[in-house]
Amino acid sequence: MKAIVQTGYGGPEVLVERDIDTPTPGEGEVLVRVAGCGVCYRDTLVRRGHMRARLPVIPGHELAGQVVEVGEGVEELNKGDNVASLIYTFPKNCKRGEENLCRGNQWLGEDRDGCYAEYVSLPHWSLVKIGAHSEAPLESYSFAACIVGTAYRALKQRAKAVEGETVLVTGAGGGLGLHSAQVARALGLRVIAVTRSEEKARILESLGVDNVVVYGSGGFSQEVKKLTDGEGVDIVLENVGGPTLDQSLRSVRKGGRVILTGNVDPRPQQVLLGLVILKETGVLGSLNSTLSDLQEAVGLLSNGAVKPVYKRIPLSVDEVRQAHSLLEAGKAQGRIVIAP
Ligand SMILES: [Zn+2]
Repeated sequence: MKAIVQTGYGGPEVLVERDIDTPTPGEGEVLVRVAGCGVCYRDTLVRRGHMRARLPVIPGHELAGQVVEVGEGVEELNKGDNVASLIYTFPKNCKRGEENLCRGNQWLGEDRDGCYAEYVSLPHWSLVKIGAHSEAPLESYSFAACIVGTAYRALKQRAKAVEGETVLVTGAGGGLGLHSAQVARALGLRVIAVTRSEEKARILESLGVDNVVVYGSGGFSQEVKKLTDGEGVDIVLENVGGPTLDQSLRSVRKGGRVILTGNVDPRPQQVLLGLVILKETGVLGSLNSTLSDLQEAVGLLSNGAVKPVYKRIPLSVDEVRQAHSLLEAGKAQGRIVIAP
């Protein structure tokens, strides 16, 4: 099969095209023909060596596809089933609801081969079946776990958001942001989205976001305060991390919550601790999604509550390298999905 392989750490040139053996599903595994593989900012962090991988490795952790072969002992899935994957595999005895935190987890595209390929073999229990009736194309379920599920977990499980609350979404024009704004709307929240780009602002408005703030060097907290009668928002979905965290802490109301879901800057960050204490801000991490979060995410895509915003590219090394460069430059609109 054709695959893109990461051979070392460095620039996009460490990604090369290879012809390798199609994997054979072991016991409990199924072979999935890749319909879509999302290109994630995390892939660029792994490529640059900020996150270590077992090299050489096939990158890519955002997978949807069709089961084409079933290994021994698999009764839950059949040939022809459409599935979306978690971004990791977990030991079968992992505690239900805490799959994302289990010891022994293997991250796709890092600890084991991912989906920049035509086929991937995975344990059946890391996959969620997609029902026959669906509003979204199969390849768009590739980012059900890493984007839609992540937003769902952050808002529902971590922030415990209740209908009518206001949420601020940072990095709103990126893949995670565009979809988390929609998840928040689907949960009945008022959404204020912040972005640096006028172009991305227009996309956000077309998706029904309540307020879009385009900001420059002065930050966004003043504008957010104005939009909330000087109070600040109930929740911040912090998708960017370091570069926006200070502004987020200034934008949240007293007693509000800031949920950290992503971080584009791997260096240590400075945080004004007094702000956190004086406002009794809850600052919580949220790590991707669990099986139940993924199930919810698949539901949100299937019933049309979340409209996938993405661009398809072929499984070609030139296109994939270019996708990495676009993500690193913050220029990708929505998700870029490899559709072999
Ligand atoms: Zn991802």
